[in-house]
Amino acid sequence: MAEFKQKAFGLAATDTSGVLSPFHFSRRDNGDDDVTIKILYCGVCHSDLQSVKNDWELTQYPIVPGHEISGVVTKIGNNVEKFKVGDRVGVGVLVNSCRTCDVCQQDLESYCPKMIFTYNSTDKDGTTTYGGYSDTVVVDQHFVLRFPENVPSDAGAPLLCAGITVYSPMKYYGMTEAGKHLGVAGLGGLGHVAVKLGKAFGLKVTVISTSPRKRDEALNKLGADAFVVSTDASDLQAATGTMDFIIDTIAAVHSLAPLLSLLKMNGKLVTVGLPDKPLNLPIFPLVSGRKMIGGSEFGGIKETQEMLDFCGKHGIAADIELIRADEINAAMERLAKSDVRYRFVIDIGNSISNL
Ligand code: NAP
Ligand code: ZN
Repeated sequence: MAEFKQKAFGLAATDTSGVLSPFHFSRRDNGDDDVTIKILYCGVCHSDLQSVKNDWELTQYPIVPGHEISGVVTKIGNNVEKFKVGDRVGVGVLVNSCRTCDVCQQDLESYCPKMIFTYNSTDKDGTTTYGGYSDTVVVDQHFVLRFPENVPSDAGAPLLCAGITVYSPMKYYGMTEAGKHLGVAGLGGLGHVAVKLGKAFGLKVTVISTSPRKRDEALNKLGADAFVVSTDASDLQAATGTMDFIIDTIAAVHSLAPLLSLLKMNGKLVTVGLPDKPLNLPIFPLVSGRKMIGGSEFGGIKETQEMLDFCGKHGIAADIELIRADEINAAMERLAKSDVRYRFVIDIGNSISNL
């Protein structure tokens, strides 16, 4: 492991058990274009869980997860004009890209073939990137986001991944037209933000869930208009052919047929969830209803800032369960069982040094 001057401390998994334990490492010196950030909060994304357990067979151990980072700037390099010490900032899923290819030129760095992820990626200097389950991070200023005044640092942190991952496809696939009907499949971290964004865009929003226990909150707290239990034949029957779009945030292998049946003719099913195995694609309902299936990744930096500003304007943040760093392994177990309302956020600032 490379040794740098800036000492760092966090939580790492060292094998496929995914158990996270205290980990000392170092961050690179703050370069001319860099911002050093004292991390205050970090959201717990389902991708973190899938990564520590090596579900996608891409994990290099030790891994320090976390890509929903919020904190304050503690150092800036000579070329940094965007930020000053003390600013409230965030870091999401990526910390660098080639900056020159076609997609980077279009501000779509999240599709750059040379993108560098916030964790479990090889950085430009050949070292492995470590994420936000740690006390500090050093990031090129281009990949640092500004927190609008009324987006809180704790409940706002999940917007850096969960928020942008649903905002970006909603914009790209046209799910912003007031009055249209959006289905949100899976009411977890991504799904609950999609409900809030959908309402802010003026859509009718229906949650499609495996958890009847989430019905009350979905309707009365999150503001959804309707709730469909995806295993309940009469719920499905009643909603058949009513939706213009579905955003599918489900993390596990699941059947697409019930979701496709809910779409109107020309409806679009957009998947952002990342099950570890391929899904079975039923062709008949696609062809007969001229329906479309698409996919989408989290967005580029420009769009992520736009999303944060939109959330600031509309008072949108995540509903969170704030946990201490030493509660992370129990939280991961609950996340695996879809038992979180609706995002765990680690109180890094107040608890990481007590590990
Ligand atoms: P999460 O908080 O665990 O939410 C996922 C929800 O899916 C659960 O709450 C549950 O909702 C539903 N679900 C879980 N298992 C299911 C099953 N076997 N069958 C049907 N529904 C099931 O996860 P998240 O953080 O929102 O992430 C969701 C997925 O998006 C993950 O795969 C993650 O890796 C992926 N992701 C992708 C991107 C991207 O760039 N595309 C970015 C971030 C995350 P109900 O209880 O309501 O059924
Ligand atoms: Zn994520």
